[in-house]
Amino acid sequence: MASIEFAPRQQETEQITAHVIWMTSGLSCDGDSVAMTSAVNPSLEDIITGAIPGMPKVVAHTPVLAYENGAEFMQAWYDAEAGKLDPFVLIVEGSLPNEKINGEGHFAGMGVNPSNGQPITTNEWVDRLAPKAAAVVALGTCATYGGIPAMKNNPTGAMGVCDYLGWGWTSAAGLPVVNIPGCPAQPDNTTESLTVLVMALAGITPVPELDDQHRLTMHFSRTVHESCNRAAFYEHGNFATEYGSDHRCLVKLGCKGPVVKCNVPIRGWQSGVGGCPNVGGICMACTMPGFPDKFMPFMDEDKNAKGSTALAKFTYGPVLRYFRNQSIKTKGDKEPEWRHPRAEITTGYQKHW
Ligand code: SF4
Ligand code: SF4
Ligand code: SF4
Repeated sequence: MASIEFAPRQQETEQITAHVIWMTSGLSCDGDSVAMTSAVNPSLEDIITGAIPGMPKVVAHTPVLAYENGAEFMQAWYDAEAGKLDPFVLIVEGSLPNEKINGEGHFAGMGVNPSNGQPITTNEWVDRLAPKAAAVVALGTCATYGGIPAMKNNPTGAMGVCDYLGWGWTSAAGLPVVNIPGCPAQPDNTTESLTVLVMALAGITPVPELDDQHRLTMHFSRTVHESCNRAAFYEHGNFATEYGSDHRCLVKLGCKGPVVKCNVPIRGWQSGVGGCPNVGGICMACTMPGFPDKFMPFMDEDKNAKGSTALAKFTYGPVLRYFRNQSIKTKGDKEPEWRHPRAEITTGYQKHW
C-alpha cells in the first residue's frame, strides 16, 4: 500500500485519552469480541489499565463488556458523534447490510432514535461516527470483507466496511480503514493492532504498514503453510487421507493453507495454543477476502494443489525423506566419538603443558 499521510498528536501525548467505540451491531455473532477477551499479548486489561509503557489512557465502550445498558450505555455513542470523545477509534464488528434494499424494515441497528422511536441502523451509526473517528477498524472477516453474511444468494447485500465507505476512504487523522480479518479475528492480533494504532495516533510509534487489502503486514504477510508445523510433511509427500493423522499434511483433506494469509499457526488460537492445521484441523481460509465462497467446498482438495502434491509424493518427497532420515541416523543422532571416559583425549586438542 502507498505510504500513509496522517496527523499524529505527539505534542499532546501526556493528555490523550483515546476512546474506543466498539460496535458489534453489524451482521455479527460477537465472536471477535468474545475471542478478544482471551488475548494475552497484550490483554485488554493491559490496555485499559495502562500497563503498557507509553500507552495513552484508553477507555473502551463495548456492549460485550459494558456494565451500563440502555440509554446510559448509548451515551458514549452520542458523545462521540458530538465530538466530546476526541480522539476515538471506531471498531466495527460484523458486516454492514445494504439498508437501501431493506424494504420497510431494517437489517441491523442499535439504539432508538428519540424523534421517531425507530432503531438507529448500524449503517447510520457508521455514517455519523466514521467522519469523526481518528481511525476506523474493521474487526473480523464479516466487517473486513463481508464474510459469511455476504455469501452468494444472501438477501441483505452485506458487505465489509471498506466496501461501504470506499476503499480510498481515510479517517480524520488520514488513516485508511484498518482490516483485522479472521473468523474470529485472532485475539492478540486484535489487541496488538489496537495498541499500535493508539500509539501511532499519539505520535509514539510509526503508523503500522498495511497491505493492499488493508491488513497489517506484521500479521498477514505469511501464509498458513509457511508457518504450519506440518509443512515438512507436505515437502516429504506425506499426506493424510483421513482425520486423526498426526504426522501428515492435511492438504488432501481440504486444507487451504498454501494460499491463505494468516498467522494463527504461529500465534495459536489463544496463548499460543491451537492453530488449525497445527492441531489437526484444515485451514478453511477464514481470513481471506474471498471467504467463504471462493474456498468451498471446504473439505475437498484444492484442484491447484493436486499437481504439487503428486509431484511431492511421487518424486522428490520420498527421496528427501530418505536422505534426511539417513542423515539423522548416521550423523545427527550420534554423539561425536571423542566423548568418552578413557584416559586419553581424542578431541583434536593439542596439549600445551
Ligand atoms: Fe462472527 Fe466470524 Fe463474523 Fe466475526 S467474522 S462476526 S466471528 S461470523
Ligand atoms: Fe500446508 Fe495445510 Fe499441509 Fe499445513 S496442513 S503443511 S498448511 S497444506
Ligand atoms: Fe482461519 Fe485458516 Fe487461519 Fe485457521 S489457519 S484461523 S482456518 S485462515
